[in-house]
Amino acid sequence: MRKPVIAGNWKMYKTIAEAVDFIEKIKPVAAKADHCEVVVAPPFTALAAAAKAAKGSKVAVSAQDVHWDKEGAHTGDISPVMLIDAGCTHVIIGHSERRHDHGETDEQVNRKLKAALAAGLTPIVCVGETLAERESGGTGEVLKTQFEGSLAGLTPSDFSRIIIAYEPVWAIGTGRTATPEIAAEAHRLLRQLAARRFGEQEASGVRILYGGSVKPDNVGGLMAQEEIDGALVGGASLKVDSFSALVNYPRG
Ligand code: PEP
Repeated sequence: MRKPVIAGNWKMYKTIAEAVDFIEKIKPVAAKADHCEVVVAPPFTALAAAAKAAKGSKVAVSAQDVHWDKEGAHTGDISPVMLIDAGCTHVIIGHSERRHDHGETDEQVNRKLKAALAAGLTPIVCVGETLAERESGGTGEVLKTQFEGSLAGLTPSDFSRIIIAYEPVWAIGTGRTATPEIAAEAHRLLRQLAARRFGEQEASGVRILYGGSVKPDNVGGLMAQEEIDGALVGGASLKVDSFSALVNYPRG
């Protein structure tokens, strides 16, 4: 049984007060949502206050990125220990906006992932192809390269602690969602890669979230796919009403 995860990636939105207000409002929604785990990822500045507001509730707080070192001369970066200190339990790693805006490589994603695991965080590792890669038939190869590079050196036990997010770059923030079938096909491929690398049991247990313009009106179709174990949501996670609707996605 893979418990679905509905995760909101707030990107560079929300002040501390806005983050706390949102968490206070979503706590009762999450409390009633036994069918899924609820995660929100505020910006760094709001993490500690968000985690304090979420303490003792069913809302888990995630960072949006992490450095691999414990401390050091890395201006602007935040370490895994600092995220734990702020009250985070999860961290998004390798989001396409980090890969594209900051040139993050699979090797760096891998170092971040290992450091996050060592610190006791639950990593949400993102992979996904660009439009050009999909249109040239390269989706499978891109996912394989990202999967193998990002997860290099992990043991099956490490792997059992991570969450994967399939986020086709062409669907992020564009309003263009992958159809449930396209998403499920990519998830199946990722699960096959996981089986080959970590074994059938680990592959069938890993949660693979879909991300890319998920909204209250399309989440039901996506979640109806057996292969889709939740959603990583940007835009539609910013308002309490729409995030609540995503948490309470239609269930058959
Ligand atoms: C994301 O930021 O991970 C994302 C999927 O964004 P959006 O839902 O806005 O496409």
